[in-house]
Amino acid sequence: MASTDASRLDEAYDEDLLVPGHCACGALSFIIDLNVGRPSTSAYCHCTRCQRFNGAPFVHTLHLPFAAVSWMPEACEDVGAPHLDSNTLQEAQMDRENRGFPKARGGSWSELLETYEAQAGRKWKLRCKVCSSPMGSWSVVRNGWSIWPPTIQRAPSTAEEASNHNNTNNTPTSHFTGKQLASQKAWRLMRPDHHQFYGPWRSFDVQDDGRDKFIGYKGKSERVA
Ligand SMILES: [Zn+2]
Ligand SMILES: [Zn+2]
Repeated sequence: MASTDASRLDEAYDEDLLVPGHCACGALSFIIDLNVGRPSTSAYCHCTRCQRFNGAPFVHTLHLPFAAVSWMPEACEDVGAPHLDSNTLQEAQMDRENRGFPKARGGSWSELLETYEAQAGRKWKLRCKVCSSPMGSWSVVRNGWSIWPPTIQRAPSTAEEASNHNNTNNTPTSHFTGKQLASQKAWRLMRPDHHQFYGPWRSFDVQDDGRDKFIGYKGKSERVA
């Protein structure tokens, strides 16, 4: 793909590394660009915070650098990351566009994004205001996103198809790229390789899945299985 700034391109831009995702109703969408940055963590998290925010025994969480996830620009200001001012955001977006990245969809992000400051000045949880789907979080400390991969675009299950009568925005195509599904190549880069916060508070015992289990974060806590 043509670029106006070849110095930023280390290697060919790979469309297979664009990963579209959205909430249950489709009002909120994002795209992960694994050309820009790879996950620093991909794990199943058993912490009580993830359990409660998601209503799930554990969640798959994917840590990504700021520039690798494209929402509407106002998102960062909404989640209380004022150091990411609109110039910084615009520069990052222009940089991606120069490298062949699709332009952001128009509209007002702040009307759709619900945020909750889960750790004061450190972490904001993100949710769709329309359908309440949990989307992930913004971390000031990591200067990056957590994305919960259940939001990644896949073929709808029969249950999801059955509930779509209510949905005015149920096209199975990314708003950003026209892409329908994340590629197998992208999934290989996002596959969870361990369990974190696997302690007595867990509500699900994982047997023989071949992944290491840690009482807290990998590399910063004891391995328990
Ligand atoms: Zn929604
Ligand atoms: Zn967690």
